[in-house]
Amino acid sequence: MVRRNTDGHGSGRTDNMNEIIITYTFAMKSHITYLLTAASFFVLFKSAGQVSIDSIAMEPHAKNGWGWKIDNLDMEITFAPDEEMVRITGKITLELQEENSLGPTLAILGSNGKSMKFDQVSSKGAASIILNQQNDEIPDVTLAHIRFAMPFERGRSITVSFSVSGNPTDTCCFDINEDGAIGSWNNAWHPIPLFDVKGEVSLAKASISTGKSTFYLPREWHAMTEGELTETHESGNIRIEVFQTSIPLARSFVAGPYDITTRKGISIFKVAQEGSDPEELLETASEIFSELERKWGSIEREGYSIVEVPNTLGTSTWGGSSQQGMFWARPRTFAENQIAVFAHEIGHLWWGNMVTTAGDGFLLLNEGIVHAEACTFMETILDKEAASHLRRFGGHGVNNLHTANGYFKLWRENKDMAISEIPSNHDENAKDLVWSKGQWFFHMLRYKIGNRAFYGTMASIFDEHRDKILTLQAFRDTFIETVPEHDLEQFFGQWLDQTGAPILSHDFRIADDETVVVSIVQTQTGKPYHLDLDIRFIANDQEIGIHTVRLTKKAQTFEFKLNKAPEGIELDPLHKLLIWMPEYGENPIEP
Ligand SMILES: [Zn+2]
Repeated sequence: MVRRNTDGHGSGRTDNMNEIIITYTFAMKSHITYLLTAASFFVLFKSAGQVSIDSIAMEPHAKNGWGWKIDNLDMEITFAPDEEMVRITGKITLELQEENSLGPTLAILGSNGKSMKFDQVSSKGAASIILNQQNDEIPDVTLAHIRFAMPFERGRSITVSFSVSGNPTDTCCFDINEDGAIGSWNNAWHPIPLFDVKGEVSLAKASISTGKSTFYLPREWHAMTEGELTETHESGNIRIEVFQTSIPLARSFVAGPYDITTRKGISIFKVAQEGSDPEELLETASEIFSELERKWGSIEREGYSIVEVPNTLGTSTWGGSSQQGMFWARPRTFAENQIAVFAHEIGHLWWGNMVTTAGDGFLLLNEGIVHAEACTFMETILDKEAASHLRRFGGHGVNNLHTANGYFKLWRENKDMAISEIPSNHDENAKDLVWSKGQWFFHMLRYKIGNRAFYGTMASIFDEHRDKILTLQAFRDTFIETVPEHDLEQFFGQWLDQTGAPILSHDFRIADDETVVVSIVQTQTGKPYHLDLDIRFIANDQEIGIHTVRLTKKAQTFEFKLNKAPEGIELDPLHKLLIWMPEYGENPIEP
């Protein structure tokens, strides 16, 4: 089977999907065609006798087809739910960022050659196009190499037409069945230019583009993707919906039999009727947006959608998933009105989607930040005590494991590790850790330096790392430089670079009528923590005073002058610190 190129140029040709036939057409329109094997591709460049091309071809970026950025991407996406097939045809305009190149390599991720394949690729004047290649360093990638006989220089653009199809399976966020379809930029469901995964470019950065997305859907379905819906019509059993994004964004999509409610630029896509009232949810979502924009800085967007994704689509490991212009939630999130989950996922627009985090401990800077802020958002709708209870024990979508109580459980189960040492190939356990101890780290940092310094620094870190990569070291350095008066080096060290948390024992005695002596011992192993600890004095079940002391040593005593003799004392009564308390279960260091 031979397919003709639709635009009459280029030379891409495939036989069946597993067998690769490469056609090499000489430039200068010599019309001589060679059939080559993949192995002889670079040999041909070597023997071309042109030193410049030869040396360019051996440069890592040229050899790998790196260095191209999407300028515009127009796609037509067709769903065939009964066959569980997705077909995408499109035109991608790429601009060269490197000094020179012999052509780009396009990649589809999460496919591993098993599901989505390139059916056809063409580009005017291309000398060779090799489809459906794998890469040893990126296990889940399927590649199309497009090479030209003459090198391009920085700033030059080319347009590549492509057609990919397949049955997306075994991926977290790219799937289709009779209930609907989903595709996340995280899974690179459409072709993107391959980039050096060990370099500065992030997947988010490599995926962003403006352009048009046209969906061909079963008539009863609706789609959503980044951008604005500009056109919709029906033709027979097919519904056609066209979206246009003029802001460069990484595109994801959902499609299914949705009911849509829209207000103030936010839409709710729901399948089931039960659960949270869409109108009420829209109100909450717009409050979350304004709260987060006030704290972290505004983000440009063309609408935002909260979408119910049936449990049958994608892997069951996620409960919510944040995309650049929408957020996916499972039916349960709606049914139980889990507001903290909505706040968490909207928070990922900033930390995870706009800012990519990398390196050891990176998980703290996306999952930790958004989870901490979701809990803080709950302070705006719950009273102070209820919000504090949520950080300690969960509720409203916060799992009991992702709280102070949960952290001490993880510790007892030997699942604790230093947050700064969490590697990029972490397990689910590491997420539990940043959602529990990690969120408390931010909570304590905010208390320590105050809201103004905390959110001011967070906003400047966001601004500086938008569309870039943020490491834990850069995050720490910025805070240490911005608020030098708070000894944050020590604070970061004790909470991020070691396991555990403070376990305090206390005692008090009345020395004379007015003086109370309180002694506090840090019973955990290792160096003592530095803590600003509140002590509440109680008489007749009433608070008679609250004082803050600075702990820096294993054992310390403090004297207080009070008007009344206390009958009891309480440590950290407002729960500002992650310290062990009997209500969190057994003391983790007692045998
Ligand atoms: Zn998350």
